[in-house]
Amino acid sequence: MKHYSFLNLADANSPYICELQQAAMRVVNSGRYIGGEEVEAFERELSAAVSTDYAVGVGNGLDAMRLILRAYMEMGKLHEGDEVITSSNNYIAGILAVTDCRLKPVFVEPDLATLNLDPAKIEAAVSGRTRVIMPVHLYGRISPVPEKFAREFIVMEDCAQSIGARFCGHPCGSLGSAGAFSFYPTKNIGALGDAGAVTTNNGELAECVRALRNYGSLRQYHNIYRGVNSRMDPIQAAMLRVKLPHMDEENALRRANAQAYDEELDNPLIIKPQMPADPDEHVWHQYVVRIVGGHRDEFRDFMAKNGVETAVHYPTAVHHQPCYEEYSGLHLPVAEQLAGEVVSLPVSRCTKSGDARQIARIANRFMN
Ligand SMILES: *Cc1c(COP(=O)(O)O)cnc(C)c1O
Repeated sequence: MKHYSFLNLADANSPYICELQQAAMRVVNSGRYIGGEEVEAFERELSAAVSTDYAVGVGNGLDAMRLILRAYMEMGKLHEGDEVITSSNNYIAGILAVTDCRLKPVFVEPDLATLNLDPAKIEAAVSGRTRVIMPVHLYGRISPVPEKFAREFIVMEDCAQSIGARFCGHPCGSLGSAGAFSFYPTKNIGALGDAGAVTTNNGELAECVRALRNYGSLRQYHNIYRGVNSRMDPIQAAMLRVKLPHMDEENALRRANAQAYDEELDNPLIIKPQMPADPDEHVWHQYVVRIVGGHRDEFRDFMAKNGVETAVHYPTAVHHQPCYEEYSGLHLPVAEQLAGEVVSLPVSRCTKSGDARQIARIANRFMN
């Protein structure tokens, strides 16, 4: 029986192995192991790829979000207790960034068609303390924020899953006030360890994040903020400089897999993700189906018995996480329903589009 793995990182990096080794050796031989030319070059290349004036490399995606919010606080644009509107089916990182800055998350239910924050429900969530809207381009699909709100509030995009996705031709990370990227190894463009970045056209914000990531200092031994240590490693910057030029090509492979699933999947128990009208709006970090009738676990067992690894993003809604007991009483039925229904099928470059067709044919046999 053929085995279809969900994601194998060594295989995902194998097309780049020689270049990655050379880039790593370049850093080893350089003697520069924090900051320096390698990180600065990656920042320039990322800002070009994302069409922003600035990109600032940081330690990881969570810190990218924490530091954007911290920077707005240092700039006097955001204060403790202010509210951040985001989707209720969020990954936990964005919420951790919000609560870490002593801001308050306000959860808006997603649209079941896109699995992203429902723009029609934003209005009702706005209060006198609303300052930020945090769209999460979940699974790689652009989560648009209506102009009306974008003019009024800070828009912090969570681009961890969506590098290369575009809305009306504009790349994510350039759509709002600031974008937060993660280069965690499993992401569409993954480092060989942790890394993240902030993108923005706001020079003051970029400068502030640059200081905050480095102990609150831009000049040695002169600390203007109580910052943190969250710098991008030059060795990761070097790895990412190898992979970033292949962003569109990587995303095209995922799109081909999503297309194959969309054409082939045909089972009334499996709800397919809606294909976007413009293919550029989705980079398919995950291909997420919903299994109806409470059969999710049986579906996963069935797929596993037939050689197909699947995953669940995410099995527990954020407001039901033990660390957020204070939100456990919230009534967020769509997020809760999704936590019980979603299954991710293999969609990375390790899955060939012929494999995706085979996997879909196996899924079509579930309970049929
Ligand atoms: C991966 C991810 C993050 C966090 O990135 P790290 O680099 O692991 O800190 C944030 N948000 C979303 C949606 C993610 O998928």
